[in-house]
Amino acid sequence: MPSRPILRIAVPAPLYTCFDYLPPEGVDAATLSPGIRLHLPFGRGERIGVLVEKVSSSTVDAASLKPATAVLDHQPLLADQDLQLLLWAASYYQHPPGEVIAAALPVRLRRGEEQMKLAQPGWRLTPRGEAVQPTHAPRQLQIIQTLIEHPDGITQQALYTLCGSCRPILRALEGKGWVVPCELEPQQIPPTPEGPRLALNPAQRAAIATVSSSLQGFSAFLLNGVTGSGKTEVYLGLIEAALAAGRQVLVLVPEIALTPQLMQRFQSRIRSPIALLHSGLSEQKREQGWLAASRGEAAVVLGTRSAIFTPLPQLGLIIIDEEHDLSFKQQDGFRYSARDLAVVRAQRQGFPVLLGSATPSLESLHNVATGRYQGVDLPERAGGAKPPRIDLLDIRSAPLNGGLSPALLERLKTELTAGNQVLLFLNRRGYAPVVTCHHCGWLSECPRCDARMTLHLRTQLLWCHHCGHQRRLYRECPKCSSSDLRPLGQGTERLEEVLAEQFPNHPIARIDRDSTRKKGALERLLDAIHDGHYRILLGTQMLAKGHHFPDVTLVGILDMDQGLFSADYRAAERMAQMVEQVAGRAGRASKPGRVLIQTRHPDHPLLQTLIHQGYNAFAQVCLDERRQAALPPFSYQALLRAEATSSEKPVYFLEEAARQAAHFNTQGVELWGPVPAPMERRAGRIRAHLLIQASHRRTLHQLLRQLIPSLGKLKSARHVRWSIDVDPQEML
Ligand code: ADP
Ligand code: ZN
Ligand code: ZN
Repeated sequence: MPSRPILRIAVPAPLYTCFDYLPPEGVDAATLSPGIRLHLPFGRGERIGVLVEKVSSSTVDAASLKPATAVLDHQPLLADQDLQLLLWAASYYQHPPGEVIAAALPVRLRRGEEQMKLAQPGWRLTPRGEAVQPTHAPRQLQIIQTLIEHPDGITQQALYTLCGSCRPILRALEGKGWVVPCELEPQQIPPTPEGPRLALNPAQRAAIATVSSSLQGFSAFLLNGVTGSGKTEVYLGLIEAALAAGRQVLVLVPEIALTPQLMQRFQSRIRSPIALLHSGLSEQKREQGWLAASRGEAAVVLGTRSAIFTPLPQLGLIIIDEEHDLSFKQQDGFRYSARDLAVVRAQRQGFPVLLGSATPSLESLHNVATGRYQGVDLPERAGGAKPPRIDLLDIRSAPLNGGLSPALLERLKTELTAGNQVLLFLNRRGYAPVVTCHHCGWLSECPRCDARMTLHLRTQLLWCHHCGHQRRLYRECPKCSSSDLRPLGQGTERLEEVLAEQFPNHPIARIDRDSTRKKGALERLLDAIHDGHYRILLGTQMLAKGHHFPDVTLVGILDMDQGLFSADYRAAERMAQMVEQVAGRAGRASKPGRVLIQTRHPDHPLLQTLIHQGYNAFAQVCLDERRQAALPPFSYQALLRAEATSSEKPVYFLEEAARQAAHFNTQGVELWGPVPAPMERRAGRIRAHLLIQASHRRTLHQLLRQLIPSLGKLKSARHVRWSIDVDPQEML
C-alpha cells in the first residue's frame, strides 16, 4: 500500500522550517494543490497554513503526524512560482518561511476568511433617468450623459474620473429615482479617458526599443535618466508593449501616496485595468486588487514595496521607479529588498526587469559596470528643458536668519519679485531639533533614547522622532527652573515662520509629515501649488519625490553637510541622491532653474565633484572608495542586531553568536564587533550589533544558513530581541 501523502505546510511561526501534516480526515490528498490554505492544529492552538508541497515521507515519525483540520480553498491562492519565490526570499533573508508566506497574503485571507467577491460599487440609470429631459443643471446633465454612454453601469471610481467627485449630486439624483447604485465586475470597468501622448525623443525611443526587443527572456536594465528626462514616458511605452504581447506588468514606486500625479498619469494612459496596491488603501481595496491581479484580471499592478509578492500569472515585465530609494528595503521584521527581489523574480520566471532612477544606487551602477545589468541612458531633459545650474553658498561666516544666509535671501527676493516660484529644502520637520536652557545648558533629551526631542511649536510638544515619545512643552527649565528656554537650530516650522516675516505678501506651502497628516491634505497642497496659489514652497524630502513644479526657478538647499561626515559609509551617496533629486525640481519646463546649496564645507572634494561633474561622476568616485575599503558592492554584508533593557545582554548574546559562528566554516568571512549601535539607547532599549562580511555572497550565505537557525537555542538569546538583516542599508 502506498504511504499516505504528507502535506508540507508553511505555518506562521518563528521557526525556520515548514511543518508536516496529514490531509484532513476523509479528504483525498490528490485533490489538494500547493498554494491552498488549511486550518491546522498547532501547539496548543490553531493556525492557518499554506500548502507548499506534497511529499511521500517525513522526518517526523508517522504516529505523531497530525491531520489538518480543514481545507479553506478549492483554488490555490499562490501559484507554484509564487511559493518558490517566497521560499527563496525566506531562505535568502533568513526569515521563517511560514511568516514570509503569511505576510504575502491579504490580511483577511491570512486570518482564514473567505476570498472576497470582486464586484465594485457603481451606478446606472433607471428607466425614469433615461427619460429625463435635458433641462437640468450642467453637472447633473454631465453625469446623466455619462451614464447613458454606459448602459450597463459604470464604477464609481470611473465615474469620478470622468465627472469629478460628485457624491452629493449622485445622492440627489438617486433621491429623484433617476440613478441607482449597482455592483459591477472589474472587467466591466470602462477605461478612463486617454491622456495626452507626447512625441517621444530619440533617447526615449531607443530606450523603449532596447527593452521591448528583449521581452522574451530575462535581462536586467538600468534606466539612468536625469530628472525630467521622461522616464515615465519610457515606462508607459514599455507597459504598452508588454500588454500588447499579452503579459501583465508590475510597477513598483517608493510611495504612491506621495506621488498622486504619477498615479493619474498611469490611469489616464493605460487602457487596461490597473490594480493599485499600497498601504494607503483600505484592506478591502487591497484584497480586491490582489485578487484581480492573481486571477489575471488586472493587467497592471502599481504598488509599493510589498506588491513585489503579488501573484501575477502572466507577468512579463517589472519596472522599479526610483530604484535607489530606501523604501524598497523593509527595515523591520522580514527585511527584504523589493528591488533586489524584482531582479530575482524576473530571472527565475524569464522576463525583463527595468530599474529606473536619476540617481541610481551604487549597487546598480556597479552591476552595469560588471555587465550583469544593461545600461540605458536618458542623458538630457525632455521637451527642451534645461538642466538646473548648481552653485555652493559658503555660509561659514554668514549671519543666518532662520537658517537662511543673506545671499540666499537676496536670491529669493529677486525670484519672487519676478513672479517665480521658489522651493526651499530642509530635511527636518518641527520647529527646532532641540530646546536648551540658556541659564544652565539643559537640553531637551529624550528619556528613552540617545537623542534630542524636537520642538513642535504649533502643537506645543516636545517630540522624539526616534521613538515617538511626546510631552508638553516645559514652561521652565526642569533642571534649574529658569524660564529662559530657547529653541536651537531650524526645522521646517521655524523656516516657515521666518519666511512669513521676510515675505509677508507671498503665500507659503509647507510640505512635511506634519502638514500633510490629514487624508487628502497633500493632494490639496500639490493642486494649489500647480494652480499657482503658492509662491514659496518649503519642505522635507517629501518635496523631493518625483513631483514636477514647472514654475520653480530657484531651489535652496539649507543644510546637507551632515551627509559629508557621517559614520555611515552610505551617507554621502544618500546626500548626493537627495541634492540631485531636490535640484531636479527646478526649471522643468521653459524656465531655466538655479540651485543654491548652503554649506560650511564648500571645498569638500565630494561636493565639488557632485556639482561640477554631476551624479554619475560622483558615484564613480564613491565606488572607487568602496572598492578600496572592500565595502559593498565589493563585499557582502549581514548585520546581526540585538537589543535588551539592560546594557550587557545584547553584547553578551552577540559574543555568544560570534563564538557559535566559529563552529561553522567561517573561511572568507569577517566578523566585526559586537559594537554598540550608533544610537545605543532607543525607546528604552540598549542596542548592539555584529557585522558579518564576506567577499563572496555564497560564503556569507553558507554561514548564515547554519548560524541563524542555531541562534534561537543559545541561552543568551532568551534575554534579548535579535534580528538578522541581510544586505543592510542602514547601520542604525
Ligand atoms: P522623469 O520621471 O524622468 O523625471 P517624466 O517622465 O516625469 O521625467 O517627464 C518630465 C517632464 O517632461 C514631464 O512634464 C513630461 O510630460 C515631459 N516629457 C516627457 N517626455 C517628453 C517628450 N518626449 N516631449 C516633451 N515633453 C516630454
Ligand atoms: Zn536650566
Ligand atoms: Zn526617543
